Amino acid sequence: MPADIRIVPCLTDNFGYLVHDPATGATASIDAPEAAPLMAALEKEGWKLTDILVTHHHGDHVGGIAQLKAKYQCRVHAPHDANAKIADVDVRLQEGDFVRIGNLTARVLETPGHTLDHISYVFDDDRALFAADTLFSIGCGRVFEGTYPMMWESLLKLRALPDDFRLYCGHEYTASNVKFALGIEPDNADLQARAKQVAALRAEGKPTIPVTLGEEKKANVFLRADVPSVAAAVGLAGESAADVFGELRERKNNG
Ligand code: ZN
Ligand code: FE
Repeated sequence: MPADIRIVPCLTDNFGYLVHDPATGATASIDAPEAAPLMAALEKEGWKLTDILVTHHHGDHVGGIAQLKAKYQCRVHAPHDANAKIADVDVRLQEGDFVRIGNLTARVLETPGHTLDHISYVFDDDRALFAADTLFSIGCGRVFEGTYPMMWESLLKLRALPDDFRLYCGHEYTASNVKFALGIEPDNADLQARAKQVAALRAEGKPTIPVTLGEEKKANVFLRADVPSVAAAVGLAGESAADVFGELRERKNNG
């Protein structure tokens, strides 16, 4: 049975997500930005939280764990990096590990750069990628703890997933990302199409997520650092993709 996925807006611009297995009733929260809206969504659906899948140690992703765990006695799965000091962890995960949520299976990809501990969760059967603050729609996370080459490798790992996979990311930053990307690639027709779609969704107060990876590969400039025209657009024709990626990230930071 396919997973039932709910988007739960949390804090200012975080996305909380509930992934429910209708066959067994098991329900996972991807990160726990804020307990109250997640509890309200669980109550509305009549679901009981069994697992929390943590992507990285930042407060806007772990802030709700203690309260949710106290209420549901759920298992907490988190990156193996013990230095990251995530509290209340039951299971530590690394590259290639699998997490079972009832009959659903999540596969762990290590995607460091934003933080060193950052992992992403792939539900292969459900064609869903939860990439938190590594890959946003038309953007990517800031590189706080890692290096640009490290983050670029993480993005390549996500880009290698099939086009029909849906991206569920950590924040609603798409409109700002589109504005930046259009400054680099004003003539990218796929980006222009996404820009229109995003403006319409935001005008209706709807999330811009999910989006397919196929669309992202064509329109997200941060996944396109190895495209010659993108390198040329930032004055780095012929330079390495990691350098082009770093330049894009710097410009977005300062933009
Ligand atoms: Zn973060
Ligand atoms: Fe975040």
